[in-house]
Amino acid sequence: MKGITILGATGSVGKATLDVVGRHRDRFRVIALTAHADVEGLFRQCIEHRPQFAVMVEETPAQQLSERISQAGLKVRVLSGTHALEEVAKLPENDCIMAAIVGAAGLLPTLAAVSSGKRVLLANKESLVMAGQVFMRAVREHGAELIPIDSEHNAIFQCMPPQERHAIRRILLTASGGPFRGWSREKLHNITPAQACAHPKWSMGRKISVDSATLMNKGLEVIEACWLFETPPERIEVLVHPQSIVHSLVEYADGSVMAQLSNPDMRIPIACGLAWPERMEAGAQSLDLCALGHLDFEPPDLATFPCLQIAKQAAQAGGSAPVILNAANEIAVQAFLEGQLPFLAIAQVVQYTMEHLLLSSPDSIEVVLEYDQRARVMAKAATARAAA
Ligand code: NAD
Ligand code: MG
Repeated sequence: MKGITILGATGSVGKATLDVVGRHRDRFRVIALTAHADVEGLFRQCIEHRPQFAVMVEETPAQQLSERISQAGLKVRVLSGTHALEEVAKLPENDCIMAAIVGAAGLLPTLAAVSSGKRVLLANKESLVMAGQVFMRAVREHGAELIPIDSEHNAIFQCMPPQERHAIRRILLTASGGPFRGWSREKLHNITPAQACAHPKWSMGRKISVDSATLMNKGLEVIEACWLFETPPERIEVLVHPQSIVHSLVEYADGSVMAQLSNPDMRIPIACGLAWPERMEAGAQSLDLCALGHLDFEPPDLATFPCLQIAKQAAQAGGSAPVILNAANEIAVQAFLEGQLPFLAIAQVVQYTMEHLLLSSPDSIEVVLEYDQRARVMAKAATARAAA
């Protein structure tokens, strides 16, 4: 039996992980589940999966959960606070930790998981984007086994055995193009959060849904791929593929191109990460290529969706650029979701913050967190101006 902890259990990736784990109760036992403030969601998961620990970040929801748990007669210890996220990520009972908190809030818990030297399933791409160098150093120092869960990176992982890494010509990172693929900038002026969150192929949390609509998600994924596969950004090409069937491709020196295909279902990369190097049932439908008939590919429209270009520049610049990019994007996306910033101004806020904050390369997690805060302050000011 393998012990698993899920950081961000009540989110889209967290729920998909529990769906897979629930199909293999003979192989996995749940050690800890964490959530931000969704008491009802975490309580239901506790009933079904009987973890040893449940963590709520906020104190009041933690008390409410604690009452529900004792009324139900469950033996689950409820903890609260951000520090508790790190504690459960480091429990010796864990064999595997799913890092599925959204955004920069996932950085310290994910790093705690890495420091335990266990298998870490990485969905929280923002933590790697923010702290790439420090993060990968921690992976090496603690001997953690990092398996990417982002569908594209999981595809690349599957197409790239370690002994072939030296012979890569390029990585082709596929993108669905989001809900506004083919639209003009004029049409994007009055986009609402509901429209931006209605992704044509994937059902995801609100932040990543907006990132997919601006193509910032693909930009973050370019940076993520650079770190995971030790590949410079100029060897990573983004390819729009609206059906989201080919999850990414790797081209080798001899011209061979390897791809991983499947229906768009996050349970597939999650099951891959949980079972690797074995394979196990994920609950996903078989791929029916005849029913699909054709697969389409096109270049991304960088003029209409400048976030991808801005993120590529951050990947090239390295140093502090990715942490500033990520922080400014989180502030702008939150303001957009709250109806305070127009859709097209997300890129402007990020660009402005990138251009006006000049910082040296962060060499420790403390410095990463300091830069993150400084970028947030500047991005908030830029957001207020853009909203006025
Ligand atoms: P989500 O919004 O559905 O869920 C986020 C989870 O994190 C929830 O459990 C929430 O309670 C928790 N959380 C939120 N804020 C927190 C905070 N401040 N402190 C502690 N916990 C907090 O998000 P999601 O779509 O599941 O995405 C999670 C991560 O996985 C993101 O980094 C995203 O980019 C990545 N990812 C998601 C998908 C997908 O299909 N949803 C695909 C690839 C990568
Ligand atoms: Mg992805």
